[in-house]
Amino acid sequence: MSIKLLPDSVANQIAAGEVVQRPASVVKELLENAIDAGADKITLLVKDAGKTLIQVMDNGIGMSEEDAILSVKRHATSKIFGIEDIFNLHTMGFRGEALASISAVSQFELKTRRDEDEVSFVLRLDGKKVEKAHENQERPGTSISVKNLFFNIPARRNFLKSDNVENRHISEAFQQTALANPEISFVYHNNDREVYNLPSANFKQRIIQLFGKKFDQRLVPLKEETEIVNISGFIGKPEYATLKRSEQFFMVNGRFIKSPYLHHAVMLAYDDLLNKDSIPQYFIRLTVAPDQIDVNVHPTKTEVKFVEERSIYAILRTIVRQSLGKFNIAPSLDFERESVFDSPFDRTRTVKIPGISVDPSYNPFEGGSGSSRALREQFERVEEMMRLSGDEIKPMGKEDVKPSQLNISEGEETSKESPIIQLHNKFILTHIKTGFMIIDQHRAHQRILFDRFRSKKSDVTNCQQLLFPISLDLNPADLELINGMKKELEKLGFSIERIGKDSISINGIPTGCREENATSVLESMVGSYRDNKDWEAEKLSENLAMSLARSMSIKAGVHLSEKEMEDIVDRLFASDMPYSLPGGKPIVITIALEELDKRFKY
Ligand code: ADP
Ligand code: MG
Repeated sequence: MSIKLLPDSVANQIAAGEVVQRPASVVKELLENAIDAGADKITLLVKDAGKTLIQVMDNGIGMSEEDAILSVKRHATSKIFGIEDIFNLHTMGFRGEALASISAVSQFELKTRRDEDEVSFVLRLDGKKVEKAHENQERPGTSISVKNLFFNIPARRNFLKSDNVENRHISEAFQQTALANPEISFVYHNNDREVYNLPSANFKQRIIQLFGKKFDQRLVPLKEETEIVNISGFIGKPEYATLKRSEQFFMVNGRFIKSPYLHHAVMLAYDDLLNKDSIPQYFIRLTVAPDQIDVNVHPTKTEVKFVEERSIYAILRTIVRQSLGKFNIAPSLDFERESVFDSPFDRTRTVKIPGISVDPSYNPFEGGSGSSRALREQFERVEEMMRLSGDEIKPMGKEDVKPSQLNISEGEETSKESPIIQLHNKFILTHIKTGFMIIDQHRAHQRILFDRFRSKKSDVTNCQQLLFPISLDLNPADLELINGMKKELEKLGFSIERIGKDSISINGIPTGCREENATSVLESMVGSYRDNKDWEAEKLSENLAMSLARSMSIKAGVHLSEKEMEDIVDRLFASDMPYSLPGGKPIVITIALEELDKRFKY
């Protein structure tokens, strides 16, 4: 056996296996080259899922004849000169492999003209055959067409998936590139049908161009600048999280990347806000110094390694969490005003809501309806509970509502000037600076109680001893369950003791819980444990707290006084996460004045 150098053509075909996995890889490489060439308008044409044709036309700087010939040679690149340049990259490509690889496995045609050239240069490669020509071409720029991909490697061609699958990959590559470069205008035709026509835009507009108008309302902005990384972009409100795995994007220095590691940071930030298996949308742009990443780890360059990986993870997680807390409420978002925290809760401004007026002398407690009385008791219990719990949980008066956050001027009272209204004994309607918001009273109270149960460290003050313990008969399975959840129950304020073979005695119940409800509350918690037995401890205790909060909270149908509504609103907004319940259900819906203006067609 003798050792031989492979001819270039063979070497390129082998290399193509790495770079060109499928038509979508060609799309990605050609689009990136066009971007690197400084184009601000790029057109992509695809036929038969890229199996017949992939063509990319750009209005970038073009190439000289010599460069064009070089460009299809292996390791031909104008972007780096030495190894040190790899650590200071500002372009998409640099490996100098793409065109060599693509042209080795397709019928390839490159047409290019620089501004200073009279005519354009055409280079055709057909596996081995090379053809050069000159043509008149009106505008400077480059057009590359890739026909019959893998025509000379039947095994690869046969392994291409159905048109549907390949088209999906192409769309994905197109979306990733278009999203990372919103200022560039992109057109995409598939089998002569226009799929996208995206004018130059800002980032928010580009998201909407690609994913639809509905995203306008679904996203909250993200912005943070640190020494290590700058982060900006948008993340989806938890209630819009779906099973879709195609609406999550990270971009680093203008390049789309995949990062399971950073994905994890985002997911952790959403934590209890999501339903099982659902994933929030996110469009996150990170900027780091070029020498802080190594994009060379993967031939198709969608994975990167950060030097400060762990710090970036921590920063990302923190700012996503903060942003969810801060912005979830912001009514119609003006994305360009990203860094401004537009106070959602300014009661200093009076906004007239047409058609709704309040009678200031109206007293909902007049006549003392049963439900109001019950509610008042409930509130008193909650007050009492807060008093008992001492320092750890302060009574949530105005002082607990961070004025900086909510922009309530000190000492200001809510009055006729900024009415707070109950709708159908179910919702609380109140002003905010930019419009109004509607709060679900039941969910709001659930959130308040849930937070309280979760922040509890000591269990003593949380438990209210019963003068006359309640005994409860249970079946063996439920008794077994109660045994397993005893510690959690005690943390929440239950004091339970086994008496006899199949009964227990409830000696104490959580403060704020009504004695007559004790058994039903406990039973519903056992039920919830039954459903979630396999959850790990942390999830379980969260789940039980939620179940307790649900049973103890004010229900729909209960009338509330103005004072009670204010209490709820104030306490709700003292929470880190006032906008949704664990699981993601919304508590608050905001309507912007702009929205009303729009609907009234002003
Ligand atoms: P890389 O992008 O990694 O440098 P490629 O094989 O993709 O390698 O491209 C090789 C070279 O061809 C590039 O470095 C660039 O100089 C030139 N080139 C490729 N596409 C274009 C284009 N659309 N416009 C101008 N120059 C291009
Ligand atoms: Mg390239």
